[in-house]
Amino acid sequence: MIWCMTDCLLNRLSAALLFVTLGTTSGLACCTAPIGPNQSEVAWAAQPENAGSGQHWAIAIHGGAGESEWEHMDAATAAVYHDSLAKALAAGAAVLEKHGNALDAVTAAVKVLEDDPLFNAGRGSAFDADGKNEMDAALMDGATLSAGSVASVRFTRHPIDLARAVMEHTPYVMMVGPGADEFSKAQGLEQEPPSFFFTEMRWQEFVAIMKASGRTVPPRPAGVPAAGGASSESRNELGTLPLPSFSHRFGTVGAVARDSDGHLAAATSTGGMQGKLPGRVGDSPLIGAGTYASDKSCAVSGTGVGEYFIRLTLAREVCTLVQEGKSAQQAADQMIHSELPALKGGEGGVIVMTPNGQPIWSSNTLGMFRARQSEGSEPEVYVK
Ligand code: ASP
Repeated sequence: MIWCMTDCLLNRLSAALLFVTLGTTSGLACCTAPIGPNQSEVAWAAQPENAGSGQHWAIAIHGGAGESEWEHMDAATAAVYHDSLAKALAAGAAVLEKHGNALDAVTAAVKVLEDDPLFNAGRGSAFDADGKNEMDAALMDGATLSAGSVASVRFTRHPIDLARAVMEHTPYVMMVGPGADEFSKAQGLEQEPPSFFFTEMRWQEFVAIMKASGRTVPPRPAGVPAAGGASSESRNELGTLPLPSFSHRFGTVGAVARDSDGHLAAATSTGGMQGKLPGRVGDSPLIGAGTYASDKSCAVSGTGVGEYFIRLTLAREVCTLVQEGKSAQQAADQMIHSELPALKGGEGGVIVMTPNGQPIWSSNTLGMFRARQSEGSEPEVYVK
C-alpha cells in the first residue's frame, strides 16, 4: 500500500508531465479504486431510470476529482467544500424551481463554482508553464444540440458565459485564445486581470509540480501579493473560513440538468491541467469529449485527464450507449471503469442526467466532489 501511495503522490506531483507521457503507460492502475456508493447512493441507483418520468426537474454538479489527496482530507476541509458545493447546487436548483430552463440552471451553478477559489475554474484556475491562466469552458443545449465553447481564454470572469455567448451570438461552436478574449470584451462580459484569477493555494500546487518535473518556476503574475505576504484570498467567499491547503488534481467544475419541460443541458469549466504547455486544450471545452447533451439520450460533464476523455469522445459515448439501450449508470460505469482505465492512465469521473431526470455519477478516482437534487427531494452533497 505504501508503494502505491508513493506512486500516486509522485503521479500527482508530476501531473504536468502527463502531456509528454500520454503515449506511454503511466502506472496509475493502483489508484483507480472507484468511489464506493453509500447507502443513499445505492437507494438512488436502485430506482429505475424511468421512475418519476413526470415533469420533475433535477440537477447534478461536480467540482473535480482526485486520488491520494482524498486520503488526507480533514474534517474542516471537507466542510468548506461541502458548503461550496451546496451553494452551487442551490443556485442551479433555484433556477429550476422557478421553471427556468436547464441551460440557465447549469450556467448558474457553474458560475458559482467559477467564482469559488476552491475549484480549478475561473477564479482559482490552474497555471500553464508560463504562470498564466488559460481557461476552457463549454455548454450544450440538449433540446436543440446547440453548443458553445471557448479555450485558452484569459480575462473573462465567467468563461461559461463566454461559451454561451459563442453559442447564442455567433454562427460558431468554438472560439479560442485572443480572438475569444476580444469577442468577450465586445460582448460586454466582465473582464478581470490575472491577479483576480490567482490564488496562493493553486500557485503553490503549481510550483510543486514545476519543481517535481525539473522545470523553471516562472515569476508570479503581475499584481499578486508577494510570496509570503498577506493575501486577499486568505478567506473564502462564503465567510470566515480560511482557504484549506487541500488541492485536488482535477478541479474542473460542471453541471447537468433536466428542466420541468423535459430538456437537458450540460456545462463544464476549467483552468485545465497544472503546468500545461501554453496552448494545451483539454476535454472540457470539446463537445463530445468532456461535455455533451441531447434530450434523446443524456447530458454529461466530465473531469479527469482530458487527453483520455478526448480520445474516447467519452461524454458522447456515454450518451450513445444510453441510446443503444444501456441504463445511464451502466453506460457511465462502462466508460469510466472499463474504457478509460483501459487506456492506462485514464482517470476521472462523470456526472450524467437522464431524460427522465435521474442524476447519476461514476468515477474511477478515490474521490469526486459532487452533489445532486431532484424536485421534491433534499439536496445531496458528497465530498468523499
Ligand atoms: N479535464 C480537465 C482537463 O484535462 C482537467 C480536470 O478535470 O480537472 O483540462
